[in-house]
Amino acid sequence: MTHLLHRAIHAKLPVAVRGEGVRLFDAEGRAYIDASGGAAVSCLGHAHPDVLAALHAQLDRMAYAHTGFFTTEAAERLADRLVADAPDGLDHVYLVSGGSEAIEAALKMARQYFVEKGEPQRRHIIARRQSYHGNTLGALAAGGNEWRRAQFRPLLVETHHIDPCFAYRLQQSGESDADYAARAAGQLEAKILELGADQVIAFVAETVVGATAGAVPPVADYLKRVRAICDKYGVLLILDEVMCGMGRTGTLHACEQDGVVPDLMTIAKGLGGGYQPVGAVLLSSAIFQAFAEGSGFFQHGHTYMAHPMAAAAGLAVQEIIRRDGLLQNVVTMGDYLETCLVERLGNHHHVGDIRGRGLFRAIELVADRAVKFPFDPGLKLNGRIKKEAMARGLMVYPMGGTIDGQRGDHVLLAPPFILTREDVDQIVERLGDAVDAAIASLS
Ligand code: PLP
Repeated sequence: MTHLLHRAIHAKLPVAVRGEGVRLFDAEGRAYIDASGGAAVSCLGHAHPDVLAALHAQLDRMAYAHTGFFTTEAAERLADRLVADAPDGLDHVYLVSGGSEAIEAALKMARQYFVEKGEPQRRHIIARRQSYHGNTLGALAAGGNEWRRAQFRPLLVETHHIDPCFAYRLQQSGESDADYAARAAGQLEAKILELGADQVIAFVAETVVGATAGAVPPVADYLKRVRAICDKYGVLLILDEVMCGMGRTGTLHACEQDGVVPDLMTIAKGLGGGYQPVGAVLLSSAIFQAFAEGSGFFQHGHTYMAHPMAAAAGLAVQEIIRRDGLLQNVVTMGDYLETCLVERLGNHHHVGDIRGRGLFRAIELVADRAVKFPFDPGLKLNGRIKKEAMARGLMVYPMGGTIDGQRGDHVLLAPPFILTREDVDQIVERLGDAVDAAIASLS
C-alpha cells in the first residue's frame, strides 16, 4: 500500500526511476518519450550533465541561506541573467519556488503598488475564462476554469472574468483577425468601465494559454490592444508565462512575438527545467520605484524563496539554452512537429484544430468537426489518449473538454528543446496511433 496521496488516488502510476535526454524509464525498464516535458517543464530533457554539475557544485558550497539574513551568488546571478534577457522595462526579479507562488506574489505586488501610489481603492482583478494560474487560493481565484474552482468558490476572492482570445472556438466565421482582436480586447475595456476604471488593479492572462485550453496563442494585435486599454485606464498588465515562457514558444518570452511588454510577468516551469522547483516574477521599474520610494519593502515572503539550489538550477538551465542555441532548435523542431501533426492528423475526422507556437503545440479533438462539437466529457477521451500513449511509451499532456461549447478534449505537446527529427517522427507516430486507439475504444 502506498501512503503517497497522489499515487493512492492514481493507483496505476508507474514508478519512474531514471531519466536520460528526452526519455524517462520506469522500474520495469520501460522507456517513455517525454513529449510533454512533464507539464511543459523539462526543457533540457533529463539528467543533463552540465546542470547536474552546477547543482553538485552549489550543494558542495551551500544548500540554503535564508533571505532574511543573506543574499547569495546563485540568486544574484540568476536575477542578472533574467533581467539581461528580459524585455526593456522589466528590471527586477522576485524568486520563488513555482508557478502558483509567482502568481500570488504578482497579484500582491500589483495591489501593493497602488497602495504605495495612494490609490488604495483599487481592488478588482480581471482575468479570463478557461485560464489556469495555479492551485493556491489567490491563483485559483484568478483562474477562470470552473471545474477547478467550483468546490472552493466560498474561499476565493472575487475576480472578474472575460472571454479568452480563442480563434478556433470564439472567432466568428468571416470575422477578420483584426476585427476579432478588437472585439475580444473590447471585453476588457467594457469590464474595466463596468467596475470603475479607478477600481481595477490588474488584468492577468496567459500569453499563450496552456493547460486548460491547449496551446492557444492570441490572434495578432490582441495583446497590443489589451496593453493599450490597460495603459488608458492605469490598470497593470500581468502576463502569466509560467507554462508558455522561457523559450517554449521559440522566443525566450512568448510576449516578444506579440510586441508587448507587461508590467509583471510570471515564469516558472522551464526556468529550472525540473531540476529544482523555481519560479519568478519579473517586474517593471515603475513598480520597483513605487516600493523603493514608498514603504521600502514588498510585504510578502516565503522560507524557500531565492533558494540557492533552485537559483543554481535556473542559472545553469538558462545558460545552457543560450550557449547551445536551443531557441533556434525550438523554432526548427516546432515547425517540423507542426508539419508532421498536420500530415498525420490534419484530415482526421475527430481532430478539429492543430495549433500552437514553437515546441508548445496541441491538437483539439471533437465529436463533430463540421460544428466543432466536443465529445461528451463523461467519455474521458483525453484520459483514454493518455493511457494509450503511455502504453506506447509516450508521455503527452491531455486535458478534458467541456460541453459549454468553449473547448473539446485536447492533447498538449511540450517536448524538451533538445528534440531531434527522429524524436518528432516517433512522437507523432505514437500519438496518431494512441488517438486512433482511444477513439476506437469509445464504440
Ligand atoms: N500558471 C500557469 C499558466 C500554469 O500553467 C501553471 C501550472 O500549470 C501555474 C500557473 C501554476 O504553477 P505551479 O503548478 O508550479 O504552481
